[in-house]
Amino acid sequence: MTELRERDAMMCRTCGNEERASEGYPCTECGTFICVICSFRGVMRCRACNARLAEQDFPNTPSREIPLIDWPEH
Ligand SMILES: [Zn+2]
Ligand SMILES: [Zn+2]
Repeated sequence: MTELRERDAMMCRTCGNEERASEGYPCTECGTFICVICSFRGVMRCRACNARLAEQDFPNTPSREIPLIDWPEH
């Protein structure tokens, strides 16, 4: 009975894949597990943190009324 299954598999909080925890990285915000594949893609934060920070990065842009071109009257 050889059980070679490694016990360090963790679910990546970004892509949802189960990857080896020893090869992953912690989220820079909350420290949760991010797999090495995502970090290769440049993902440094988990999905939840990305979503949260995305809202902060893009504050509700004030819908400024850009005046249209003044069409000359006929
Ligand atoms: Zn991942
Ligand atoms: Zn996070």
